[in-house]
Parts: sequence; C-alpha cells; structure tokens
Amino acid sequence: MCFRPTAISRKIKCPSCGKEVTIFEGIKQKKCPHCKADLETAGQK
Ligand SMILES: [Zn+2]
Repeated sequence: MCFRPTAISRKIKCPSCGKEVTIFEGIKQKKCPHCKADLETAGQK
C-alpha cells in the first residue's frame, strides 16, 4: 500500500539556529519560526 499525503512537506535546517523547520509545498516559509532568520537561502540548493 502506498499512501500519499496531499500536503507535501520537507524539513530543512535553519542555518542560523540549527533547528528543523518544516516547509510545506505551496507555503513559503521565509523566516525561521525559532530565531526569525531568513530561510530563503537555506531552501535552495
Ligand atoms: Zn532558526
């Protein structure tokens, strides 16, 4: 059985505080909820 959630999420690590931040598809998380650091540079590879 293969269950696929409609909401795709992934986790990135905040470059500033090192905590995991959940990124949801379609929702742009620009700031770290923990330390308010800019995540735009961390989200791209
Ligand atoms: Zn942070």
